[in-house]
Amino acid sequence: MEPHLHALHSAGCDPIEVRTPDQLQEVTHLVLPGGESTTLRHLLDLHHLSTTILERVQNGDLALLGTCAGAILMGRDEGEDPQRWSLIDVSVQRNAYGRQIHSFIAPVQWKSGPGSGESEGIFIRAPRLEQPAPEVEILAVCGHEPVAVRQNRCVACTFHPELTADPRVHRWFLGL
Ligand code: GLN
Repeated sequence: MEPHLHALHSAGCDPIEVRTPDQLQEVTHLVLPGGESTTLRHLLDLHHLSTTILERVQNGDLALLGTCAGAILMGRDEGEDPQRWSLIDVSVQRNAYGRQIHSFIAPVQWKSGPGSGESEGIFIRAPRLEQPAPEVEILAVCGHEPVAVRQNRCVACTFHPELTADPRVHRWFLGL
């Protein structure tokens, strides 16, 4: 099973994969997964999902969790490719830790949101979150750097909580 579907299932819901605008209307919470952000953006546009996602999020009608590539799309538009959606007022720098071989696992400290304490952060060619606006809540840090943030019902994680056995992020997200 796709890891986010598995994590959502473990968190107690019955998830569906969204591939069409009709399926998008059926959900109250949507996960934008990792992958490659320019491809993700291209596919979302090609399948006529981007406009409805944006409209519904801006109406407060859809909660969004973006991991890695998904988080990139949610950041502030600063003219970079792929064009960001400006749903969370934070700069998201792609591939900021280096190439694929510089991917790493490091402890993540939760400050608020899904819980307190530490969990394992899997960073795969991850982006960096920089210059968050005051209205952006820092949910978790790795060292001194923010790695999970939230604004309204939008949550961006630069690591991959779906690849660990800990369903707290998904469970908390479902309550937003
Ligand atoms: N490096 C990818 C990008 O810029 C994101 C990697 C990921 O999602 N794990 O799109």
